[in-house]
Amino acid sequence: MRLLLIEDDDRIAGPLTEGLGRYGFTVDHVRTGAAGLAGTDGTPDLVLLDLGLPDMDGLDVCRNLRARSAVPIIMITARGEEADRIVGLELGADDYLAKPFGVRELVARIRAVTRRTSGAPPFPVPTHQAARSEAPGPQPLGPLEINRRTRQVRLDGADIPLTPREFDLLAHLAEDPGTVHSRQHIMDTVWDPHFFGPTKTLDAHVAALRRKLGDPAWITTSRGVGFRLTVPGQDAEPGTAG
Ligand code: CA
Repeated sequence: MRLLLIEDDDRIAGPLTEGLGRYGFTVDHVRTGAAGLAGTDGTPDLVLLDLGLPDMDGLDVCRNLRARSAVPIIMITARGEEADRIVGLELGADDYLAKPFGVRELVARIRAVTRRTSGAPPFPVPTHQAARSEAPGPQPLGPLEINRRTRQVRLDGADIPLTPREFDLLAHLAEDPGTVHSRQHIMDTVWDPHFFGPTKTLDAHVAALRRKLGDPAWITTSRGVGFRLTVPGQDAEPGTAG
C-alpha cells in the first residue's frame, strides 16, 4: 500500500516513514503542499496530510486533492485545531489524528479508513451489511438512487460526488429510511466500532450531505438522539396519499 505523506517537519516525517515502513507501507514523503498536489500523479492509496504547511494552507491542499480524486485523506493536526479539523472533514478528509500520536494508532486509522473506503472489506462484517453490499441493484429513494456496488449516488439522474465517508453515512441512513439512527450507532457503524472522542465530525458530514443533496430536509435531526433520512415532501404517515 502506497502512502503520500505531506509533512514539512522532518522530526515527525522521519520516524513516521520508518515506522510505517515496518508495517509494510511504502511512503512517499513531500514537504510542501505544492509538492503534495504534484505528487498525487503517482496515485497513492491514501494521503497523510499535515495541516500546518509552509507554502499553503493544509485545508486548501485537502480541498484540491478532493476536487480531483477520491483518495482517502487522513489529516494530521496539532492539538487545539478543532475548527480546522471540522472544516477539513467538511472538505472531504476521511479522518484526522492529533499530534502527538503513535505509529500503531496511525496504522489503525489507516486500516479503518481503508476498510471503509474499499469495496471489499478485509475483515468480517455483520451479516446484514454483507447482504447489503451484495445487493444487486441501486436502491431508489424518491429522486435519489444509491448504488452500493458502485458506490454511486444519483439525484434526479445526476451523479452526486460524495466522499467515501459521506457515502457510507448516506448508505447507512438509507438502510432504514424514516427511522432515527442514534449518533452512537452511526459512529460505531460508519466510523469505527471503537470510536472515541467528539462526534462533531458526524454533524459536519451530515451538513455536507445536506448541502450536496440540495435540500436539508433529506436528513432530519432528532435532537439529542440522532438522524433519519426521509425523501423531502414524502414524510407522510403510512397510508396517507402523496
Ligand atoms: Ca507542519
